[in-house]
Amino acid sequence: MPLSSGAGTVVVIEDDANIAELVDLYLRRDGFRVLVARDGEAGLELVRRERPRMVILDVGLPGERDGFEICRTLRAEGSWPVLFLTARDDEIDRVLGLELGADDYVTKPFSPRELVARVRTVLRRTERPPLGEATVSIGEITIDPSRREVSLGGVLVVLTPREFDLLAWMANHKGFVLSRQQLLDGVWGSSWYGDARTVDVHVAQLRRKLGPDLPLATIRGVGYRMG
Ligand code: CA
Repeated sequence: MPLSSGAGTVVVIEDDANIAELVDLYLRRDGFRVLVARDGEAGLELVRRERPRMVILDVGLPGERDGFEICRTLRAEGSWPVLFLTARDDEIDRVLGLELGADDYVTKPFSPRELVARVRTVLRRTERPPLGEATVSIGEITIDPSRREVSLGGVLVVLTPREFDLLAWMANHKGFVLSRQQLLDGVWGSSWYGDARTVDVHVAQLRRKLGPDLPLATIRGVGYRMG
């Protein structure tokens, strides 16, 4: 399933030349246009200028700010999907401490093919309107799937792509008790091998961003119910 040509720019922020080259090679072979930055600041500049479809971000970057810091800045400026490259287990914990809003992560050493597959999965998920085109309103919250925008009382709320998908998915199943596993399967997809706390962390983020207007009940020992 080829991506539309000319629209497939991925920015890779990675200081390890060998890894950057490998990622570059495989993504280009798969039809993407790849731009590589060797440190976080250069990467931010590239993203601002090129507005890519996706950012691949190494955690361990040289300079003042590591990948986590760079991701925080990216999140404040736009909703680019971010896939982290991590080297250690303790980094994975922080990636999953999803105030960062990572869309996926790959641990080093990784198979380049696996990486390309993950990139495709993230793009499919984040660019597909999950509700059809119709705008959905829940109280003061309005979800516009075609623009992937959420507003609260008419004011836009910045969500990460995954937070958006989760909110939209739950809104689409309003009134149903949804288990964490159902949410993982529906929103993250079957290739995801994170655990249920991933769902809880994202729900906490949605509650923080949307406040008491979010009509989402916690069903003890099971999961959540919207509406
Ligand atoms: Ca590195």
